[in-house]
Amino acid sequence: VVEKLIPVYFRNFLHIDVNEVQEACRQLELHDDQLRLIMDNMNERFENGLAAEPTNTAAIKMLPSYVRGLPDGTERGEFLALDLGGTNFRALWVHLTDGEAEITSEVFRVPDYIMKGTGEALFDHLAKCLAKFMEEHGLKGREKLPLGFTFSFPCKQERLNCARLANWTKGFKASGVEGVDVVELLKDACARRGDIDVDVVAVINDTVGTLMAGAYKENTCNIGVIAGTGSNACYMEKVSNIEKINENSSSDHNEMCINIEWGAFGDDGALDFVRTKYDKIIDDGSINKGQQLFEKMVAGMYLGELARVILEDLARKGVLFGGEYEAISQHGIFPTKYISEIESEFQENQDSSCQFLKTREIFEDIGIPVVTSADCAHVAYICSLVSRRAAHMVAAGIATLLKRINKPFVTVGVDGSVYRFHPTFAKLLDAKIDELLERKHKYKLMLAEDGSGRGAALVAAVATRLANEHQD
Ligand code: BGC
Ligand code: MG
Repeated sequence: VVEKLIPVYFRNFLHIDVNEVQEACRQLELHDDQLRLIMDNMNERFENGLAAEPTNTAAIKMLPSYVRGLPDGTERGEFLALDLGGTNFRALWVHLTDGEAEITSEVFRVPDYIMKGTGEALFDHLAKCLAKFMEEHGLKGREKLPLGFTFSFPCKQERLNCARLANWTKGFKASGVEGVDVVELLKDACARRGDIDVDVVAVINDTVGTLMAGAYKENTCNIGVIAGTGSNACYMEKVSNIEKINENSSSDHNEMCINIEWGAFGDDGALDFVRTKYDKIIDDGSINKGQQLFEKMVAGMYLGELARVILEDLARKGVLFGGEYEAISQHGIFPTKYISEIESEFQENQDSSCQFLKTREIFEDIGIPVVTSADCAHVAYICSLVSRRAAHMVAAGIATLLKRINKPFVTVGVDGSVYRFHPTFAKLLDAKIDELLERKHKYKLMLAEDGSGRGAALVAAVATRLANEHQD
């Protein structure tokens, strides 16, 4: 399989000795039978996670979201939304009218020391940003607007507006938050300030927001996927299949959105048969060792680092950069956006006259001033293997869901930086899903832009509508 791929990437670099690079990368190439095994393993964990008493507790969480109804485009009104989950925090003021969302928003940075400090400091920071936003837009003196909070971490929920953090993921590690309801933490932080108060009507995962944003546009949207800094998906499941919530399904709300938390797939060993020595290095160097093993193979937070450790290995072996390995040995020096930039350049200039200007610039910034064209082509090839494997593993996840849902046509709402900015990820993803399903299921991937932002407002809107309906 690797041999088949080489000519595509190296049509015009045939003078390069690819053996050692090939050897190092052989395991990054997943065959369809391996991907099908991943699908089977995943579906088994889905079932286990929904069971009344899950036996395999290290596996996929399958968290009930208490989101039952999808928006239908008739939602109206003004809402606040907060979005926390990556490096940025956003506050949004969303006005829903006639199937359109008019959004005013502001992005705030969450510095690393706050992500890893105390929970109190983290939520004080969020409240401070929100207060500033409300002040700037004249929302402080007004009547309270319903607020939807997109909090993109695994949370145990018993209702829509209460969410206990199960464990932090990605770069977060703030103390005293695990096991605690984040709505309470936000309210407490607002109370400490004294100048703002919030009416949190819903806490949702970003995947759920993405599904909502997708459904607002197309009612066949039943799956939400994030391929960004982190990776995860949610889907609409029959309440009768969610044994662990032990609830009678009423006729009008017989489905509930399940936040899968597939990032943790493999934490029970289910991915050991495809994990490479490089994946182990990534895990060892992370702040949550042994956790989120699927995520560490597919998400933007890790893909650049994965490419970097491969480059380091080959530089140390003298195969790349003339054996110059010091600069490339620095943790975090090769962010995922480099993968996109390098692959884009190579895609656009696949002939031997390619100057690799962008690639050379990147390595100059890293501190490797002299790289040959062969080095550049190798790097592009390695990047392509890393991103391809990620696309194929996410494809296995989506294919598993489509098979499980088994409806005549399903739209999959997708968002996230990897999906949006990588030059070929979206295409590879789509092609592999179709192949793994042997073209037996009809589906469509749809970019659900800013699902985490507008999705929170939509859930808040649906919740408010339902609450008002019950009052009437
Ligand atoms: C989190 C998920 C989230 C995903 C995408 C993961 O690390 O556990 O809750 O949906 O990242 O942001
Ligand atoms: Mg987001």
